[in-house]
Amino acid sequence: MKRCAFTAMLCLTAAFTHAGEPVNQLPKPEYSPDAADPAWLSYAAQFHGHLGPWATAGLRVGMAGRRAVEAKGYFDVKVVAGGPFIKPPRSCFLDGLQVSTGATLGKRNLKWVNGDEIVVRFENTKSGAVAEVRLTDRLLNALASIKPKPKTGGAARGDRDHGPDAEHVSLEDIARKIANAREADLVRITAIEDGPPAKAEQGGSDN
Ligand SMILES: [Zn+2]
Repeated sequence: MKRCAFTAMLCLTAAFTHAGEPVNQLPKPEYSPDAADPAWLSYAAQFHGHLGPWATAGLRVGMAGRRAVEAKGYFDVKVVAGGPFIKPPRSCFLDGLQVSTGATLGKRNLKWVNGDEIVVRFENTKSGAVAEVRLTDRLLNALASIKPKPKTGGAARGDRDHGPDAEHVSLEDIARKIANAREADLVRITAIEDGPPAKAEQGGSDN
């Protein structure tokens, strides 16, 4: 046993010191950047793996909510995402939220609560400010316009309307529209608890 441990340690030392060690790389996302894409879209695609409408909706909701409670992100924000995020493509929304708020599964400051209505609660853990963000009908309609690819042959997969097998161009088109839309067209923000300074209700334009 001791000898095994000694051998393992030798191997580990070798792995750290040898020039021919494996090259560490991040996975390559299914995403071709467009010149007009904001930088954060590329970062999100690297995290999520493709440019999808639901992930992009999560990005915009996260940015709006974090701003509403004036949180810097990562460590001063708690996010509770209510909604039917059981599986992709809808659950991709949670990845967008993680990227744009810095509240993550790993840090335990992002939580999902299953429900029919999409409502995301943001709390600034330092100031106590709380806001809820809901999606406008316009955004919900854009997300509902995603057409699942007809399942043909034996290669049918549950996430045909999600990943690279989905109708790529149309998905990316919808995602880019969401990425570049006016915030008031995408979300409705309601201040629940005022942190300093107080925030009034914003947005509200569903049409
Ligand atoms: Zn996705």
